[in-house]
Amino acid sequence: MTDRPNTPPTTLVRRTAFPGSVSRAVVTPLQPSVVYASPSPDALDDQYEGRSKGFTYAREGHPNAELLAQKIDMLEGAEGGLMMGSGMAAVTAVLMGLMGQGDHVVGGDQLYGRSLRLMHQDLKRFGIATSLADPTDAQAIAAAIRPETKMILLEVVSNPTLRVADMVGIAKVAKDAGVLLVVDNTFTTPFGYRPFDHGADVVIHSVTKLLAGHSDVTLGYVSVKDPSHRKPIYDFAVTTGMTPSPYDCWLAERGLYTFPLRYDRAEANARALADHLAGLAGVSKVLYTGRADHPDHARAQSLLQGRDGNMVSFVIDGGRAEANRMIEAVPQLAFAPTLGDVGTTISHPASSSHRGLTAEGRAALGITEGFFRVSVGIEDIDLLKVDFSQALAAI
Ligand SMILES: *Cc1c(COP(=O)(O)O)cnc(C)c1O
Repeated sequence: MTDRPNTPPTTLVRRTAFPGSVSRAVVTPLQPSVVYASPSPDALDDQYEGRSKGFTYAREGHPNAELLAQKIDMLEGAEGGLMMGSGMAAVTAVLMGLMGQGDHVVGGDQLYGRSLRLMHQDLKRFGIATSLADPTDAQAIAAAIRPETKMILLEVVSNPTLRVADMVGIAKVAKDAGVLLVVDNTFTTPFGYRPFDHGADVVIHSVTKLLAGHSDVTLGYVSVKDPSHRKPIYDFAVTTGMTPSPYDCWLAERGLYTFPLRYDRAEANARALADHLAGLAGVSKVLYTGRADHPDHARAQSLLQGRDGNMVSFVIDGGRAEANRMIEAVPQLAFAPTLGDVGTTISHPASSSHRGLTAEGRAALGITEGFFRVSVGIEDIDLLKVDFSQALAAI
């Protein structure tokens, strides 16, 4: 019984057509729909069998993910890339979609922390073995390969010590051994290095970082060279629910518009800041691949062709007390363990990404209490120089 007797029968929930317009929206529409209605069972058959193109359920795909993947494909020289809910979803989907019980993977020994954990602790439970080796030495990678090795997983520039992998040597090792070369290109970005141009089989991104660039979305990307590798990765991701939300993809596409501008500016700032840091009292070491004193400078020059990116690490004289004082002196710079934001962020690996290691383990990598990593942003460089002078003066 209705208590509104004069209201004609109606319903607000029945879906009505979106208002038509002969003019079109300038901005990419955000499509949050989880489900898509098909015209008929026959039409749905056609969709599922690939005879017609249509979305069905957002976990399996949606326009905002597809559009974003196409744009990252352009940057990477790829086709058919897939968006994932995070960079780690991308890493996981590749490792678990392409390997099974009895397989073995060789990883760089300074991979992103969660990638290392996945390989050591989680893959093991599923019967997939892992070896780690130093990617600056292609012979060390070659020596880790076994008959059951299925893939090599690498990052081009390591975090946070910014060592540069021997990509040329390792691509040859992978090819000769018939194993897949998987490159996590998050740090270098397609502006620094395009893995598919140099023998990679799979490219991964944490889009969360430089590509989206504003620290407001968590997303990942995967693309493959051999199309037959796409379906196992896709199916694993869809089944385990690793696929991304439309809103995050929409926001990341907006971030991506300015990626080239942000990258150029952040890189120019990083170069200038690295030189500035090297001249400050209290700084004992500066690591930037574009500087002649970087241990892998020559290799960086040939691989990155002068696109050294926005990451700078440095070491100050002193321990935890000096590290605290330095960070406290510059509250305007976010002390946060991330990278690729429009604003400069500083991280302290000993208390964050590398806190799980013993002091000796960290020392072996050169990560002391005085070690800092800077993700340089797009601020006015003169402001950044003042900030860092102030930070160093405070210790
Ligand atoms: C951050 C990062 C990841 C993980 O990405 P999320 O989006 O945080 O899941 C993987 N690899 C590298 C090199 C990263 O920097």
